Amino acid sequence: MSERANVLVVGGGIIGTSLAWSLAARGIADVVVVDLDLAGVYASSELNAGGVRATWWQPVNVESCRITLDFFAQHREQFGFKSSGYLWLYADADLFARALVARELQAEQGLEVAALDRSEVLQRFPLIDRHTEEIIGATFSPRDGLVNPNAVRDWYRSEALKLGVRFLNRHYVAGVETALSGAGPLRRVEAIDVIEVDTGADAAGSLREILTTHRVPRALQGEERRIPCDTLVNCLGAWSPILSAKIGIRDVTEPVRRQIALVDVHNEDVASGVDLGEIGMLVDTSGLYLHPEGSFILAGYSTPDEPPGFDFQYDGASFFEREIWPRLAHRASSFERCAHVRGWAGLYAVTPDRSGIAGAVKGFANLFEAHSFTGRGVMQSYAVGQSMAELIDLGRYETVDLAPLAGDRFDDPERWVSEELHI
Ligand SMILES: Cc1cc2nc3c(=O)[nH]c(=O)nc-3n(C[C@H](O)[C@H](O)[C@H](O)COP(=O)(O)OP(=O)(O)OC[C@H]3O[C@@H](n4cnc5c(N)ncnc54)[C@H](O)[C@@H]3O)c2cc1C
Repeated sequence: MSERANVLVVGGGIIGTSLAWSLAARGIADVVVVDLDLAGVYASSELNAGGVRATWWQPVNVESCRITLDFFAQHREQFGFKSSGYLWLYADADLFARALVARELQAEQGLEVAALDRSEVLQRFPLIDRHTEEIIGATFSPRDGLVNPNAVRDWYRSEALKLGVRFLNRHYVAGVETALSGAGPLRRVEAIDVIEVDTGADAAGSLREILTTHRVPRALQGEERRIPCDTLVNCLGAWSPILSAKIGIRDVTEPVRRQIALVDVHNEDVASGVDLGEIGMLVDTSGLYLHPEGSFILAGYSTPDEPPGFDFQYDGASFFEREIWPRLAHRASSFERCAHVRGWAGLYAVTPDRSGIAGAVKGFANLFEAHSFTGRGVMQSYAVGQSMAELIDLGRYETVDLAPLAGDRFDDPERWVSEELHI
């Protein structure tokens, strides 16, 4: 079998896998996905919070998330999709006023979002009983909710496999061959250079070393080879700038660590436990977010001064004691006595306007990109995969017009797609 790929997708996270399936579902043959680690031990698709909502402030984000949530609803059981709602608390009058304006855009997309005043919040969500005078209002969006991101990615992958997509695991993309296209000033991607990787006994340690230093230690290197392709798509998430640098193109993405803690509110000292009632995802005025996770709650907080970097260090109990517990106890008396169970750190791929990057790469005839969906990649995955497959196949978008997300928008601040309610 020829190794040549028709479409070569670099990165087998939820975005690359959705795209590969969407391409194959359109009848495109010879789609190949290349990834260092298809299990995704350090991939954002493995380490996220599983929250999904369509209630954004930018039309392209609202539409792509709404369509993805509709798709999740069609596979509710398989994906563990629960439309349990997002409750978003506000303490800032200006932000709340703008959230209410955004409801009009969300309503145009068929999303009903309730605006609640303080007394309605307290009546409907009695869990919230501390420092309630800070809360000036809230939005509750019942169609938003929670999903099992691994189940979604695995579904995309198994459907893609059935349609003949090839997945190359333990392959590190070390280089990209480009040439002038022959017609006009556009360049073409000719091939990628891959190194097969033998992670040895300490697979997680080896993967971490490679994904933080961006080189494969000689002892782990297997066969090196070149895979020619007709089309290349960068779906590397937080690692997209590493590939972009090899190609010699600008990439504004920065990897930023985000930490999540599992919290036991049903520990021995708390006999009654905590009932989150109607709440799917709760976003507090402090920026803390939480949702039920089995018998625990999953709580996350994005420290605003987190420096960019490929950092997977979870700060453990000190993160819980510094960032999570004080915010939990500040908002609900029933959270006061709770225990840190464990947690983890993953990467947000952050852009200057907090929206993802998707489209054809300027200056190239056959290079595309779909990456850097910050904290939104799961909830945009279906619509982005479908729309990018249309662009590659037909030269135009049909499902969602992703043109606002083109990477060259960063040349012009007027074209930024600025999102604010990111957590
Ligand atoms: C803590 C946290 C919470 C989040 N919460 C949510 C949430 O609630 N809802 C939501 O929608 N999103 C959330 N996100 C964001 C979401 O997880 C991401 O946007 C999404 O998973 C990105 O998917 P991806 O396929 O672009 O990238 P990834 O899943 O990161 O995949 C990139 C792949 O590239 C591979 N790779 C890297 N370099 C190379 C190379 N040189 N060669 C070969 N392979 C390589 C990696 O192995 C990896 O598998 C969260 C993220 C984090 C970190």
